[in-house]
Amino acid sequence: MNKVMITAAISGAETTTEQQPALPVTPQEMALAAKACRDAGASIVHLHVRDDAGNPTASVERFNECLLAIRTVTDIVVEFTTGGAIGMSDDERLGPVAMGPEMASLDCGSVNFADEILPNSLPSMRRFAKTMLETGVKPTFECFDVGHVYNARILIKEGLVKPPYHFTFVLGVPGAMPATVEALIMMKSALPTDVELEWTGIGVGGRGSVLIPPVAALMGGHARVGFEDNVYYTRGVLAASNAMLVERVASTIIAYGKDIATPDDVRERFGLR
Ligand code: ZN
Repeated sequence: MNKVMITAAISGAETTTEQQPALPVTPQEMALAAKACRDAGASIVHLHVRDDAGNPTASVERFNECLLAIRTVTDIVVEFTTGGAIGMSDDERLGPVAMGPEMASLDCGSVNFADEILPNSLPSMRRFAKTMLETGVKPTFECFDVGHVYNARILIKEGLVKPPYHFTFVLGVPGAMPATVEALIMMKSALPTDVELEWTGIGVGGRGSVLIPPVAALMGGHARVGFEDNVYYTRGVLAASNAMLVERVASTIIAYGKDIATPDDVRERFGLR
């Protein structure tokens, strides 16, 4: 794919309104943020949802409300998280997939997440992949470590995911791979070479989120930004919106001669329904 897909991770599960007052919380705020990101160059919105108190929730109803609100105002591709939040069960994490987003993330291994652990056994990964296959939802392999790329390759080999594949490299989570170019190259070199795939670079934290997405895009991959990964615009200065972060990475990529993908480009590439 010659064009660059930009994913906007507008909320996440761990970011709070104390850290970032412009964090979208209600379905209406999610929809407006998704539309603004689309207008700034994003083709995919990666979605975690919140309850009325602003806490992360796996509520299927709330996911559906957000999906409908977003679809009312913009044509952006919606990707649900199935990583959920720390402490959620597999059933909770997988439930919203039944609402029919076009894409969903699929965590490809267990990982330390600062003081917590995000558990993902191979049997549960198989179950997530199978559910997505049956419901026609395109998985995005979320890889926090090199071994996770090899776990994804097991799912591919077992026929649980259809090509072309989408990998993301999540770099900068405390306890996993750091947000460095060296780590990005190591992740990329673990990708299978005999299949159709796209890959997206994600940098968590201030420095990583500035470095990894544009470098990934210039290396032939794609970019993700947003409040899930970083709340700042520059050091110590909060971003006023998710769209500001999308706009910056989009203009950088365009300045270096690459085109930005539209949501329909993403649909065509991945054969989304
Ligand atoms: Zn996420």
